[in-house]
Amino acid sequence: MAGIYVHVPFCKQKCTYCDFVSFANRENEVEGYFTSLFKEIVMKAPAAKGVTFHTVYFGGGTPSFVESVYIAATLKLIKQNYCVAQNAEITIEMNPGTVTAEKIAAYKRAGINRFSVGFQTADDAELARLNRIHTKAEFIEAAKLLQGENYSVDIMIGLHDHTVEQVQESLRVALNYGASHVSMYALTPEDGTPLYTDYLNGELPDGDTVAELYEAGVAYLKSRGLRRYEVSNFARDGYQSRHNLNYWKRGEYLGFGIAAHSFYKGKRFSNTENLAEYNACIAKEVFPVVFEEEVSPIEAEEEFILLALRTEEGVNFAEYEKAFGTSFTQKYGAKLQKLASFLNCDEKGVRILPEKMYVQDGVVAELLADL
Ligand code: SF4
Repeated sequence: MAGIYVHVPFCKQKCTYCDFVSFANRENEVEGYFTSLFKEIVMKAPAAKGVTFHTVYFGGGTPSFVESVYIAATLKLIKQNYCVAQNAEITIEMNPGTVTAEKIAAYKRAGINRFSVGFQTADDAELARLNRIHTKAEFIEAAKLLQGENYSVDIMIGLHDHTVEQVQESLRVALNYGASHVSMYALTPEDGTPLYTDYLNGELPDGDTVAELYEAGVAYLKSRGLRRYEVSNFARDGYQSRHNLNYWKRGEYLGFGIAAHSFYKGKRFSNTENLAEYNACIAKEVFPVVFEEEVSPIEAEEEFILLALRTEEGVNFAEYEKAFGTSFTQKYGAKLQKLASFLNCDEKGVRILPEKMYVQDGVVAELLADL
């Protein structure tokens, strides 16, 4: 299994918590960016000969902010230059303030079959405080346009004065309007963002409160029939994100565009985050890669375990043995016993108990200590 990621770094305005590579008020650079992106897609194609890609993901930024012709043309070029499976999962991230019926129709004509909508919260005052460009009502309008489609909603936990009722209300609205998948993230105040000042001023809930809010969200999603299949991701049966599952399985992926990461043929590499540098490299037909590393066997094993234990399936013993040539239970048996109260173990594999997921980081650290 392999995936393709395309980064679209333009947004209408910058949210207060955002530290993604995204630019507001640079619409005049969209056309030039896509010209470079198209070239990069063609330049990388020879390296992917013989590989079938099962997912394509447009992320950002706000891919739905730019004209849909750019997205359609990008997807067409990818399909012309890469082997994309007939039944590939093709996702686009959308901001509710940018969604129209015409755009959705154009995406579907182009082959997009999954939509990921950044809702974050149903609280209009908080949406304004976060400098989101949409209201709850605009989310509902977007969701109505997506009825019958496979769509996911992003929800944030740990907002200003956040309450259990607000978390449940956001989830209730998303699910009542047909979302089949929810990504629920705890807000992380990143240094350098405006939100970080709120965090320093003590305006955001503390870690214990966030954990309680999160667990309330988990319980609500379960009560509405969504299964937690990864630490932060919940889906109705059959609606898990294949693109993200590929990341967690350490599958290969190629990234196109500014700041895009790739994991391909045992190497990790990423493109520059500087738009001018990206365009200049591509104009000279030079790959805009600023970081590249070969993943060592020990790093590969750590990644395998760390990523697998984020998921409901956990570490699959047969897959581990195939990848690393040794028995997981023999190598980690003593640690598995020590951590038994956090784990569910059977002949197929080992996974963290759902009710212990909140200490997933600690369990993984203990397992990987002194490797
Ligand atoms: S819409 Fe997303 S990428 Fe754009 S500024 Fe907001 S958080 Fe950042």
